[in-house]
Amino acid sequence: LNAQDFPLYGAERRGAPVTAFTRVSDGDILERGYIFDPDISVVMDESLLDDPLANPLAGLRRGGVLLVNTRRSAEAYRRTREDITILTVDLTDLALKVLGRPVLSAASAAAAARVLSIAEASLQRAVADELEEIGVGGGLAAKNLELAGLIYAKLKPMRLETRELGAAETLVPLSVIVSGSGSEDAVSTGNSYLRRTGDWRTYRPVIDYARCTDCMVCYAYCPESAMSVKDDGRISIDYDNCKGCLICVTECPLRAIVKQQEGVA
Ligand code: SF4
Ligand code: SF4
Repeated sequence: LNAQDFPLYGAERRGAPVTAFTRVSDGDILERGYIFDPDISVVMDESLLDDPLANPLAGLRRGGVLLVNTRRSAEAYRRTREDITILTVDLTDLALKVLGRPVLSAASAAAAARVLSIAEASLQRAVADELEEIGVGGGLAAKNLELAGLIYAKLKPMRLETRELGAAETLVPLSVIVSGSGSEDAVSTGNSYLRRTGDWRTYRPVIDYARCTDCMVCYAYCPESAMSVKDDGRISIDYDNCKGCLICVTECPLRAIVKQQEGVA
């Protein structure tokens, strides 16, 4: 099996939407460049489906597969497009249970590998190799492999009814930018608030006002300027723009901000 993979980043800030492409083939891969018409699209954050800048369904082929990381059932997305198969799986929940953090790379790879009928041994080797390349070994690597195995077992392989792949030799010009960027407009100033980053969160920071002394340390550290002072003088969080980086949770000297998982009562 041969593979190519490459990411496309927008504005360089933590939590910003990222697009990554993977080509897999039994034979030689002669194509290069962005993938404009994928057979499968894996959406790691369901809020991106409604984001016109990210637009993760762009180009997904008729008969292709949309795999969404969500708590919701596939039925909830039935109207998204009627010419594709929609699968849902709660990758975040499984990652939190096994890794203790919402890191989804091994989980997403496992989901895509299973749907595409890629052998589990190939998946395990790819996860191990990728982690080793970035210096991750030992217990954390073992947990990622466990997570990949769990997700592989949870899903079923699918027969993709897309067009036959021919001997594509197209060189796609890399100057064409197809994906959204992290900000509404990177040229104009003072407009970052237009990009609602509140739906990026896995965890939401919540202020315990009984402990908070309004020292403003969190205000100074917040990278999204999502902290403000209310009319009554108390610090407050703008949840439309708080992206859930949890820097404020770490930096609050009085431990007056706690994290709560989104969507979990
Ligand atoms: S850093 Fe903590 S104590 Fe200070 S204003 Fe923020 S929440 Fe309140
Ligand atoms: S988690 Fe805290 S520091 Fe991060 S964006 Fe939200 S309010 Fe700001």
